[in-house]
Amino acid sequence: MSLAVALALIVAGLALALWQRGGAREPPVRAAAAPREARREAPVRRRLLLGRSVRGRPIEAFLLGDPDAPRPLLVVGAIHGDEPAGIAIVRDLNSDPPPPSGLIVTIPDLNPDGVAAGTRQNARGVDLNRNFPWHWRALEPLGGLQYSGPHPLSEPESRLARALILRRRPRITLGFHQPLALVDESGGNRRIEASFAHLIGLPLHRLTRYPGSAASWQDHRLPGTTAFVVELPPGKPSAALVERGSDAIRTLLGRFA
Ligand SMILES: [Zn+2]
Repeated sequence: MSLAVALALIVAGLALALWQRGGAREPPVRAAAAPREARREAPVRRRLLLGRSVRGRPIEAFLLGDPDAPRPLLVVGAIHGDEPAGIAIVRDLNSDPPPPSGLIVTIPDLNPDGVAAGTRQNARGVDLNRNFPWHWRALEPLGGLQYSGPHPLSEPESRLARALILRRRPRITLGFHQPLALVDESGGNRRIEASFAHLIGLPLHRLTRYPGSAASWQDHRLPGTTAFVVELPPGKPSAALVERGSDAIRTLLGRFA
């Protein structure tokens, strides 16, 4: 037997042994097919970098609970930079123990450049809550409070939010704003909006539905889901409001999501 033939036989033998071991290790049932109740993984708190703002500031999301749970509840702490009160509620939620079942996804701050500058718009002067594709149109010239950008999704911040929303398809989405102190009937399931209004202690009212707004886009793009606006009171939120808001979100998850 030549050396080449002997080597070839050894290699073939090794390959067969590996293949058999691999076959023996194959579990009889795929893990993904196991019933959800059978899983014993502890709930997680996981930080994700979604991307960066126009000025390069990180935009983060947090997964709280079961990272594989379908149809999570999404909370956006701020989209308008001069309305930052919701960020405190989201940070409180992020620091609490994650919910025992289901998933909360948070984006503490979708407009970090606007928050740093104290402006409603992002660093290019775009009102991100007029930059989504639902009935988008040019609303005001650059410099106007509701400048909607050169075209829908022209801004990195709105594109990041859209990508996360289409990937996770949240059943419920809350977007915090200020200063009207009410929960807006934004076009989803009114029972969910009314329930949250009661939990956080704010009245339920219907505001104008603006072209290009995130909640309207989501309510039309993902039928059967509920995205709505929560207008907090003006100024820095009290510790009691932060606690009430964060508890209300966890209760809403248990009730509807
Ligand atoms: Zn706002």
